[in-house]
Amino acid sequence: MGNRRRARVIICPNPRCKQEIKEPILLNNLSTIPAGYYYACPHCLIKLNTYVYMRGRANLPSLFLTALGSTIMIWVGWLVWYDTTTWDKDIALIFFGSRTGEAISLGIGMKVIHYFLISLVPLLSGLLTFLRRRGKIIESHFNAPAGTKG
Ligand SMILES: [Zn+2]
Repeated sequence: MGNRRRARVIICPNPRCKQEIKEPILLNNLSTIPAGYYYACPHCLIKLNTYVYMRGRANLPSLFLTALGSTIMIWVGWLVWYDTTTWDKDIALIFFGSRTGEAISLGIGMKVIHYFLISLVPLLSGLLTFLRRRGKIIESHFNAPAGTKG
């Protein structure tokens, strides 16, 4: 127990190397046209899968935000489901209705729509970060084998 500090270190995929890579180096691959850049192990210079590299640097804040957003979203969804089935309430009423006197209002007039919006922000920002990252990875994969079609 207590040996969880290696989260950010990735291991070189080369079976002959298998060294810990703290900071991959960016190499310029001139053998492809157009020349592509890729991350490589600083010990054996093997090309690293960008995905492995990204996963090694797992974006915890965005992961956390997404988890937080989905948690609130699920809660809001449950609330809507509960209110519609138990109290036969209207969706609009659930979202915009006053919740004074209920725990949800927190004494400051919080409505379900507020929670919904609050959950949207981290969810979207987390999702955007994820998509941007994904786009980058696809791009690097796309660039690597350039000119092999034909
Ligand atoms: Zn290596």
